[in-house]
Amino acid sequence: MKQAKTAGSIALLAGGLVFLCAGGLLGVLGALYILAAHSEDAARPGTDLGKGIGMLVAGLVVWTVAAVIGFLAWRRMQPKPEQKVTIHQEVELTGDIDLASLKCEKCAANLDKDAVAVKEGALLISCPYCGAAYQVVEEPKW
Ligand SMILES: [Zn+2]
Repeated sequence: MKQAKTAGSIALLAGGLVFLCAGGLLGVLGALYILAAHSEDAARPGTDLGKGIGMLVAGLVVWTVAAVIGFLAWRRMQPKPEQKVTIHQEVELTGDIDLASLKCEKCAANLDKDAVAVKEGALLISCPYCGAAYQVVEEPKW
């Protein structure tokens, strides 16, 4: 999963690099055409100027695409914020309470961590067996 993600990011970066080169080439060609149109012995000044400007604009557009691709590749490599929140909650749960000994107040069924949610420091229990939903207030340990 993680390897596939990295490979995808590398492919995106390689694609971005290709677009970057293509954009640079178009820009240089466009600049050459514009320079040629300004030289005194230009055969068709108007046509060359139009071509040069067109190529410059195309080069800029291609560069924009390269920038977007690069940004997407960069975003793929960043960890997602919602994953961090999940990890944080799990750490809090295992640190504060022994889930193995957690039983439903109403029907005494063993609860797994899918039945427990953490909200503002309190444990919210929703029992999958009897449907009870209540809050567990923990005693401070200090
Ligand atoms: Zn229950």
